[in-house]
Amino acid sequence: MIIAIDVGGTKISAALMDNGQIIEQRKVESIIHSDLVNLPEHLVKLCQGWIEKSEYAAIACTGQVGSEHVNFLSAKKKLPLKSQLEAGFNMPVFLLNDAASAAWAEYCFIKNNKTNSMTEYTDKAGETLVYITVSTGIGGGIIQNGQLVTSGDGFCAHLGHTSVQHIAQHSIPCHCGRVNCAEAIASGTAIAKQASVLINKTVNCKEVFQQYADLPEIAELINQCTSAITDLIANIKATTGTNNIILGGSVGSAPLFFEQVTKKVAQLPEIYQLTVRAPQCGADADLIGAYYYAKHINNHSIQRK
Ligand code: ADP
Ligand code: ZN
Repeated sequence: MIIAIDVGGTKISAALMDNGQIIEQRKVESIIHSDLVNLPEHLVKLCQGWIEKSEYAAIACTGQVGSEHVNFLSAKKKLPLKSQLEAGFNMPVFLLNDAASAAWAEYCFIKNNKTNSMTEYTDKAGETLVYITVSTGIGGGIIQNGQLVTSGDGFCAHLGHTSVQHIAQHSIPCHCGRVNCAEAIASGTAIAKQASVLINKTVNCKEVFQQYADLPEIAELINQCTSAITDLIANIKATTGTNNIILGGSVGSAPLFFEQVTKKVAQLPEIYQLTVRAPQCGADADLIGAYYYAKHINNHSIQRK
């Protein structure tokens, strides 16, 4: 059996998995913004009773996830999470960015032919798919010609930190140190922040969509955000040549947001045309993707000592 864990900004979800199936699952609130230094200990406790039965652990984690370290960008702290967890679990641990994990889950779903549209995902050079999550932040995962794109420092495919056009006159600073990153303009956090100023009341992004989307100034804000995401998608097309973008996350999946992006992408020049799809793997995509990717790359090399 394998332990799979999804460490997010809002929640942590852990599962004992076997043969691609979740045998048991536990969910708790995330501690990465309240007690990050104790994260390794916290994860080991969460998995009590499973460790003796498991061969290794596959972790999908938010942030800049390298093979050894995780840099928790929003918390501005870096942990040697692989060695910490290997000591705590006393077994091999494999780390992957959470959006990369979700991208791999979507890719496996398609490869396993669970949809009728497998051929649409295959081009002559191999299969290329890009997953974008518009959620608390904006994350991404790129599968180029059948390979998940990774980098030693874990910063690859951080699509939220690519800059995009912004219609407003002023530049919006991003916590990464640049301005006008997609994440600083169109993430759930950014939308809530801008909307709260516009309506002079503190609101979260969900409330913006559910209660205020009809206000002209909020409608214009959402319009600017979906234009920013469309610009991001055009940049991704020019970088990867993908014909398939999966747009997920609670903000990306909100019908108003998803439909506006789809319509705007259809108006891009012809060479930028591609299909924007909704994710198929559901709420457990991150941990399922980490499970499958760890299996994929470590088929025979990860064994409990
Ligand atoms: P996470 O960032 O932990 O992966 P989500 O994908 O749920 O989680 O993203 C959380 C963000 O999405 C928050 O900013 C939240 O306010 C916003 N959100 C949640 N539900 C909705 C909704 N129905 N419509 C628009 N935004 C939403
Ligand atoms: Zn940035």
